[in-house]
Amino acid sequence: MELGLFRSWNPRQFAIDLGTANTLVYVPGEGIVVDEPSVVAVQLVNGVQRVRSVGRDAKTLIGKTSEDIRTCRPLSDGVIKDLDLAEQMIRHFIEKAAGARAFIARGPEIAIGVPAASTEVERRVIQAAPLNAGAREVWLIEEPMAAAIGAGLPVDEPVGSIVVDIGGGTTGVGIIALKRPTYSISERVGGDKMDDAVAAYIRMKYNLEIGLVSAERIKKEIGSAAAGAEPEKIVGHVGGRDVTAGSLREVELTADEMAEALQDVVQQILDLGSRALGNAGAEIASDIINHGLVLTGGGSLLRNIDTVLRDQTGLPVRVADDPLRCVALGAGRALQDPDYRTQLHASSGAI
Ligand code: ADP
Ligand code: MG
Repeated sequence: MELGLFRSWNPRQFAIDLGTANTLVYVPGEGIVVDEPSVVAVQLVNGVQRVRSVGRDAKTLIGKTSEDIRTCRPLSDGVIKDLDLAEQMIRHFIEKAAGARAFIARGPEIAIGVPAASTEVERRVIQAAPLNAGAREVWLIEEPMAAAIGAGLPVDEPVGSIVVDIGGGTTGVGIIALKRPTYSISERVGGDKMDDAVAAYIRMKYNLEIGLVSAERIKKEIGSAAAGAEPEKIVGHVGGRDVTAGSLREVELTADEMAEALQDVVQQILDLGSRALGNAGAEIASDIINHGLVLTGGGSLLRNIDTVLRDQTGLPVRVADDPLRCVALGAGRALQDPDYRTQLHASSGAI
C-alpha cells in the first residue's frame, strides 16, 4: 500500500530495449515487466489501417494472415521502418508495463536503447515515439553501452571492455571505459540474416520452401556456428513445400548442415568484431587481451558462436548471463545513475 502511494507521487521510470526482434521494458525495483516480439498485426477496415494485435499475439500471425490482415516488424532492418506502427507498438508496451498505474497522466522518464550506428535523424525518431506516447523525458543510450552495463562488465573502471551484441536485425560492437563508449559500430547483420540463410540453404539443397518462422525455429533448435564441433550428431526436422512438385514434406537436418548454411553470416559477425578490435587503442587492446570479449543478444545463443570468435581472435570469449536481457537491464541501471544521465543527455542532444 505504502509503495503504491509512493509511486503515485513520483514520476515513474522505464527502460526500454526497443529491439528489432524483441522489445523489453524494465521498471526499476520491479524488473523486466514486458518481453515480447517487436511485431504488429494490422487490419484494413474500410480502407483504414487499424492495429489488431501487438507482440506475442501478432507474431503467431506471421505467414498466416489473410488478405486484409498483415504483420509488420516496424524495426526489422535495424531502423524504424514504419514510424506510425513503431509508435503504436511502443505505446502499447509502455501501457502494458504501466498497467493500471495511469502512465500518461504521470509522464514518466524513459531510457531507450538506440543502435550505435543510428543517425541523428533515426535517434530523433526513436526519441519521438515515447514522447508522443506521453513520456516527460526520454534518454537515449547506445545499445552496446547498455549491453555492457547489463552484462556486468566493469564499465566504470579505467579498464577497456568490449561487448558484441548480436540481435535480430543488427549486431553492435562497443568498447567501453569509464562509463563512456570509446568506440562503437553496428551493422545490419544478425539473427534475421541467419534465418534467411537457413531458408535459402534448404531451398537449394532440398528443393523445399520453408517459412521464416520455421527457419528461426530450426536455427534455435539445432543451429551451430561451427561444423564438427558437437560430440554427438544433432538433428532436427522442418516442413515446407516442394518447390517443383508443390507437395508438402519434411526434411531432417543436422547441426553441421546448419553451420554450413550459416557460415557466411557468422563470418560477417566475426569480421565486425575484428574491425572493432582493430580500432581499439593500445592500452585498451591490452585490457581486452586480458579480460576478453563478452557476447550479448539472442544471436549469442547460437551454438559455438563463442568458440569460433575465440578461434578467430585468440581472445577469451564468454556469453553473458541472460544475454537477451542485458540491454534492458543496462538501460535501467543507466537511468538510475546520475553519471550516465549527463552523458545520455549530451549524446541525445537537447530534450
Ligand atoms: P533484437 O535486440 O534485435 O531485438 P535479440 O537480442 O532479442 O534481438 O535477439 C533476437 C535474435 O536472436 C533472433 O534473431 C532470434 O532468432 C535469435 N535467437 C534467440 N535464441 C536463439 C538461439 N537459441 N540460437 C540462435 N539464435 C537465437
Ligand atoms: Mg538488441
